[in-house]
Amino acid sequence: MTLDLINNVALLMAVCWIQSFISYRWNRDSLRAQVASGVLFAFATVTVMMVSILVQPGLWLWVDSSMVVISVSTLLYGPIAGGIAMLTGIAYRLWMGGIGATAGTLSLVLALLAGLLYRALLARGRVGIGKLPMVLFGLLVNGCGALLINGVFMPVSVTESPAYIVSLLVIMAAATVLLGLQLQYIERKKALEREIKANEERLASITQSIPDQLVVVDGQGMLLDVITPAELAGRADELVGEPMAELDPEAYRNHYSLLIAGAMAAPEGTSDIYESRQRYLLDSEQGSEPHFFESNAKRMASELGGDRVVILTRDITERKQAEERIRFLAHYDSMTALPNRHLGLETLDKALVRVRYAHGSLAVALLHLDDLYIVNQSLGAAAGDFLVKALAGRIAAHLGETFVARYSGADFLILAEGIDGTDGIRAWGAELLAAISGPLQFETHEIAIRASLGISRHPEHGDDAAVLIRRATVAAHHARESLENKLRLYDTAMESALTDYVQMRDQLARALERDEFEIHYQPYLSLDGGGVRGVEAFLRWNNPQLGLKSPDYFLDTAERSGLIVPIGDWILRRAAQQAKAWHDAGLDFGALAVNISSAQLTQGNLVEKIRALCDELAINPRLLALEITESSVNRDMNGTMAMTAELKAMGIALSIDDFGTGFSNIQYLRRLKVDHLKIDHEFTFGIETDASKRDIVKAIIQIARALGMTTIAEGVENSNVEGILRDMGCTEAQGYLYTKPLPSHAMEDYLRARRGGQPV
Ligand code: C2E
Ligand code: CA
Ligand code: CA
Repeated sequence: MTLDLINNVALLMAVCWIQSFISYRWNRDSLRAQVASGVLFAFATVTVMMVSILVQPGLWLWVDSSMVVISVSTLLYGPIAGGIAMLTGIAYRLWMGGIGATAGTLSLVLALLAGLLYRALLARGRVGIGKLPMVLFGLLVNGCGALLINGVFMPVSVTESPAYIVSLLVIMAAATVLLGLQLQYIERKKALEREIKANEERLASITQSIPDQLVVVDGQGMLLDVITPAELAGRADELVGEPMAELDPEAYRNHYSLLIAGAMAAPEGTSDIYESRQRYLLDSEQGSEPHFFESNAKRMASELGGDRVVILTRDITERKQAEERIRFLAHYDSMTALPNRHLGLETLDKALVRVRYAHGSLAVALLHLDDLYIVNQSLGAAAGDFLVKALAGRIAAHLGETFVARYSGADFLILAEGIDGTDGIRAWGAELLAAISGPLQFETHEIAIRASLGISRHPEHGDDAAVLIRRATVAAHHARESLENKLRLYDTAMESALTDYVQMRDQLARALERDEFEIHYQPYLSLDGGGVRGVEAFLRWNNPQLGLKSPDYFLDTAERSGLIVPIGDWILRRAAQQAKAWHDAGLDFGALAVNISSAQLTQGNLVEKIRALCDELAINPRLLALEITESSVNRDMNGTMAMTAELKAMGIALSIDDFGTGFSNIQYLRRLKVDHLKIDHEFTFGIETDASKRDIVKAIIQIARALGMTTIAEGVENSNVEGILRDMGCTEAQGYLYTKPLPSHAMEDYLRARRGGQPV
């Protein structure tokens, strides 16, 4: 009998083994898995029944495990699997025949029913399938089976020994537990593996779709995993398992050790951001271009114990290059490669701070190229460009380290420190003029160089950059008017600039009282469809003597005197009234954009003013937009940030004016949540022929896109430029091509005409 039992157990194990294949291939609940399991269990049922002992003709002793197989298969794999096994078992038992056939058949049906009952209880959560419940289940099933042997169904008593029955019961119950647990183990393992695989697939689909590089290291800096886009993954295999501290090149090492140290020092879950410039880290090619990377490291506690640092590295080279390009092009003159006006003024400011502190002196010289206009007109722009370049070369060669900027088309600004006395300055200026003189050969033409030099000095002639430059300009004017004296030092007799300022200031104050200001309006249009997206308000001064004056004439004085604040209030009120009138007339003008000067921004109560104005006039703030220049944003970044957040909340759109001419930090811009970047006309004029202007405009559009802003190009004067801008992806345009700034009623006609659907 022992042998038979061992046979039985071996069979059960074989069943488990084969079942594991079915489980791996197919989902347990699928019909084919149930049928396949049923066939397997049917085979097992018949085989275990074969080793039963023939006690007397027609009566096989109950030592087979068929009840175990059927009850457990029904329980774990359902009625189809259990049913197939049971029917096969019954067929076999009936075929063998004899006096035990009825009891045998009944026992198999009983096993199926027990399995189903247990399954139903399991589904309702009344029982579990741990060890103890399985023992009870085994005892129940096999106990019932044993009762059948001695019960009414058996014509003869198979055994008189209760001990035999009991031991049989115990062995069969144990077999049930064994089979049940083993099969469950297989199923659980299979389910877990499925889950792991699904997770892996999900992770792979995520990591393969991001262009970033993901590196996982442990707390000791050992590289555990590298997930990179395909082109960077070249060295991943050899790197994994290495300590980060031993990797080359050095830049790579430093970058990562800083990050890991930072992340380990930070509280769990918080991240550390670090930016660095280096070569492609995981690229086998060492000689590739330097790239900028931004890494973000996060410390996490690992399931497997210890800490993990997850480092996400992004290649921000393109963004950096765009920033750099703007910075360069915005501060250097593309034709001569000299610093431009912006950088010139900035350098002058800094030099003044330094010189004041050291009680030194500074000469501000303006060198004007007299004949540029004539050369341009007579020999063409190429000759003019040639002349400017040649002159820039001569100036730079003569002055060496001294600062020179191209201040405007025909003017160079020179800052010379530490020249003593009037005579010293005169000598220095005369040498400069001598060094740049001498004719130039352009193609077949000989061009004579005529230049005028005007000089003002700190501290004698002023303490302020604007004053010094104005006075140097005045001196240069005098030099220009004279044919023999091309070098002039400023003196007060030349003009009294101060009285000019005072006069202008008083005139402006009076203009405000007498209501001499007016606003002209210019639309900006969508480059895709041509719809009016907004209208910009420009200030005009209707001067009784001089006629209509544009802001260039008086804005400096208005800002210096602080008059820009009341004037700005007037513009805001007038613009808001206009917006309301157009809106009430049913005209679609998008938003009315008002230029805000930096003095208005720093005043602090701009938001309150606008809110009160909108309340008073009962207009929707969405009808207004504000344009603030890049330089005034830079002046007070935090203040502007708070203010723009409030304005945004009110629904007022914001544009950065003259974008590209300042030193904007692109990260701050992102936080400012600006809607539009305005490309200054400085960059659109001549874009057809000037590749560097195209570059800068491209870079601006690229940055705007990355930050989710639209771009409005100013100064579009012909459809050629419009086409170029459209092709570059610029979204809106403004300029004389569409219309010059118009007085209120003319603008109204324009909008009305467009409403009729006629492009104007
Ligand atoms: P901005 O904001 O950059 O304005 C663009 C200037 O270019 C305006 O000159 C406009 O009339 C002119 N413009 C527009 N389209 C074209 C074009 O196709 N070709 C050419 N050549 N010019 C075009 P404007 O009105 O003389 O204003 C000059 C600057 O004065 C403005 O530059 C702005 O910074 C300032 N400004 C104008 N109005 C106001 C104002 O109401 N308040 C403040 N604070 N500043 C103002
Ligand atoms: Ca503007
Ligand atoms: Ca502008």
